[in-house]
Amino acid sequence: MTTLTREPLTATDRCDRCGSQAYVRVELNTGELFFCGHHARALHDAYTHVAVHVQDETDRLMREHGNIKQPVAA
Ligand SMILES: [Zn+2]
Repeated sequence: MTTLTREPLTATDRCDRCGSQAYVRVELNTGELFFCGHHARALHDAYTHVAVHVQDETDRLMREHGNIKQPVAA
């Protein structure tokens, strides 16, 4: 069994859906997807059953932005 070293997500990692800073990396057999906190939640059911690994750093979102509620895009 190999151990992959996963780099923390940075400001240069952007959500594939909206371009916001990504806080979740979804590893698939075919590649990777990046999602912001909003789209990670919105698309959770769609990717969980195909993901090889999910790197969820949405807890950083709370640490870095306090308890400010994220505006929900319509
Ligand atoms: Zn997004």
